[in-house]
Amino acid sequence: MSADYYQTLGVPRDATPEQIKKAYRKLAMKYHPDVADAADAAEKFKQIGEAYEVLHDPSKRAMYDRGGDPLGGGFGGAGAGGFGFPGGGFDFTNLVDAMFGTQASRGPRSRVRRGQDALVRLNLTLAEAAFGITKPLRVDTAVVCPRCSGTGANEGSEPVTCTTCHGAGDVTQVQRSFLGEIRTSQPCPSCRGYGTIIPNPCGECSGEGRVRSHRTINVKIPAGVATGNRVHLVSQGEVGPGGGPAGDLYVELSVAQHEMFKRNGDDLEVVVKVPMTAAALGTQVSLDTLEAERDDLDAEASHVDVDIPPGTQSGTRIAIPNRGVPRLRGDGRGELGVTLLVQTPTRLDDEQRELLRQFATARGESRPEVSVTRHGKGVFSWLKENFT
Ligand SMILES: [Zn+2]
Ligand SMILES: [Zn+2]
Repeated sequence: MSADYYQTLGVPRDATPEQIKKAYRKLAMKYHPDVADAADAAEKFKQIGEAYEVLHDPSKRAMYDRGGDPLGGGFGGAGAGGFGFPGGGFDFTNLVDAMFGTQASRGPRSRVRRGQDALVRLNLTLAEAAFGITKPLRVDTAVVCPRCSGTGANEGSEPVTCTTCHGAGDVTQVQRSFLGEIRTSQPCPSCRGYGTIIPNPCGECSGEGRVRSHRTINVKIPAGVATGNRVHLVSQGEVGPGGGPAGDLYVELSVAQHEMFKRNGDDLEVVVKVPMTAAALGTQVSLDTLEAERDDLDAEASHVDVDIPPGTQSGTRIAIPNRGVPRLRGDGRGELGVTLLVQTPTRLDDEQRELLRQFATARGESRPEVSVTRHGKGVFSWLKENFT
C-alpha cells in the first residue's frame, strides 16, 4: 500500500472532510467506468475509491497518517463492504447522490467531531482592567485522552466495521404496502451510526477519545477592558468526541468596583476633600493615581500634583488629561477627573472660633445675606451618584 491517498484525491494533507468528499465526488464522476472512455479509468476509479475509503473515515485516516495500513488485514473485507458499485443499469447521478447521502442514505457519521466552545469568567481589579495584565486562569475542559490519543480504542486494537450495517452507519427497512415499497433509513442501533465498533474501548475515556481535565493557562488581558468584554482564545475550549478539534474558549471579564476611583468610560473619577482654608487660599495636593497599584512603575508615574487655585468652590472638577484608562481601541488615555469637596471645619476651639469671627467681621459677613441660586445640575447629580 504505497499510494499517497492525498495525492490520489488531489487534496492537501490537512484537507477537511468536506474537501475530501468534494474532491472524491468530482473524480468519481470523471472516472466511473460507466462514463469514462480512458483505458485506465477502471484502475483509476479503484484507486480513488480506496483513497476516499481511508480518508473519509477519521479512524482510518488517523491510522494512515501514522503510517499504518488501514486497508490491510483485520477489517473483514471493509475494502469492498459498503462501498461496492453495482454494475450497469443504474442512473449514475442517482447512484452518487445515494452514496453521499444527498438522498435517503446518510452514510456513517464520524466519531470525530469538533468540540464545543467554552465560556469562563475572570475577575479583575480596576487597575488590571485599565492597564492590562497576563493572568493565570484555571480552566476545566475536555482534552484529548492521553491514553488512546483520541482514538477511543485500547492500545493494539482498532475500530472494526460494524457487522449489522456493514459500515454504512444506517440500516434500511423495506416495508411493502399498497403504495409499493416504503424504505425507511435509521441510524444503525449496533454502532449508533458510526459504521464501526470499538471492540476494546480505552479504559481511560470509555471510548470517548477525550477526558475532562483541569489546567492553568495564562490569559493576556489587553489594557482598557471593561466588564462584559470577552477574550477569545482559539482552540482552547472543549476537545470534541473522538479527540476532535477543540472549540474556542471565551473568557468573560468582570471588573470589580474600586474604593477610590470610579470609572466612566475611559475616564477615571476621584473625589478629594480639601480644607476650607486651602480652597480659599489655593494649594497643591499630591494624589496617588490608579497606577500606584502597579508594581512596575516608578513613583513619578504613580502620582499627580493637582493645583487647586485660590477661591476653589466645592464640587469643582479639575480634569487631568491622559491620566485615565488607556483606550482599548485607539491611542491615548481618558482623563482623570478630580472633584474637590471643600470641608467646612467642625469642632473649633475658642481661639479658632474667635479668629473666624474676626474674619467674618472683616468680610462684612457677621450677619450674612443668603441667596438661593441654581446649582449646576451636573455637579449635583454627580455628587449624589458618588456618595450613595
Ligand atoms: Zn482513551
Ligand atoms: Zn452499524
